[in-house]
Amino acid sequence: MRPATRAAIYRRLRAANPHPTTELLYRTPFELLVAVMLSAHTTDRSVNAATRNLFPVANTPAAIAALGVEGVKPYIRSVGLYNTKAANLVALARQIVERHGGEVPSDRASLEALPGVGRKTASIILNIVFGQPEIAVDTHIFRVANRTGLAPGKTPRAVEEALIAGTPPEFRKDAHHWLILHGRYVCTARAPKCPSCIIRDLCEYPHKTKPPPAKRGGVSAAIRRTAARRRRNAAQHSRRARKD
Ligand code: SF4
Repeated sequence: MRPATRAAIYRRLRAANPHPTTELLYRTPFELLVAVMLSAHTTDRSVNAATRNLFPVANTPAAIAALGVEGVKPYIRSVGLYNTKAANLVALARQIVERHGGEVPSDRASLEALPGVGRKTASIILNIVFGQPEIAVDTHIFRVANRTGLAPGKTPRAVEEALIAGTPPEFRKDAHHWLILHGRYVCTARAPKCPSCIIRDLCEYPHKTKPPPAKRGGVSAAIRRTAARRRRNAAQHSRRARKD
């Protein structure tokens, strides 16, 4: 894809959503870390349902550590793999208390050393909390980057590197959210909404979906049918009038 096309795609995504943000609910960096960590293989909606109950009870590393694994589980049961995530969450909370004075660390190595935190989660925290131009690649972004031709790659890491290399600096900070939202709501896995997609003419996907077929004949045929009906009615009236 030509750099000018890439920039045009980002300009349109920015015009449609100038201030994109995560759909996870959070108020502090630690709450966001917990929410992102819980969101692996789970929808943001079920994470929000869980954290709405969990955070009023425990929303700091010390409080989560004090709650313990069995204490955390009932709050996150709606989230996939909740047994493993509960164990990771408590271990992560303890590590933040013991090694980082209760604060979410601001460097990738420390973040990725936390239990349950991988490259993607670390990138999201670095991007949202610390304002770094990281582009975390999840399943939606992987799909959008490959379909559009924005940053083709066989692995999430390859796509991430291509995105970082090919995204103009002015768009890099928000690229993650624009692409994730586009993949979640427009460029969906099974039936992308190509006919209404705002980057349709710039996208290089060869199998774009087509608009649903219009009803036979469309509007003009409907108008013609109405006119014919009126003519028939008028003819019937005049025949009756002649008989009378
Ligand atoms: S045109 Fe279709 S395939 Fe391309 S980005 Fe839009 S929804 Fe996705």
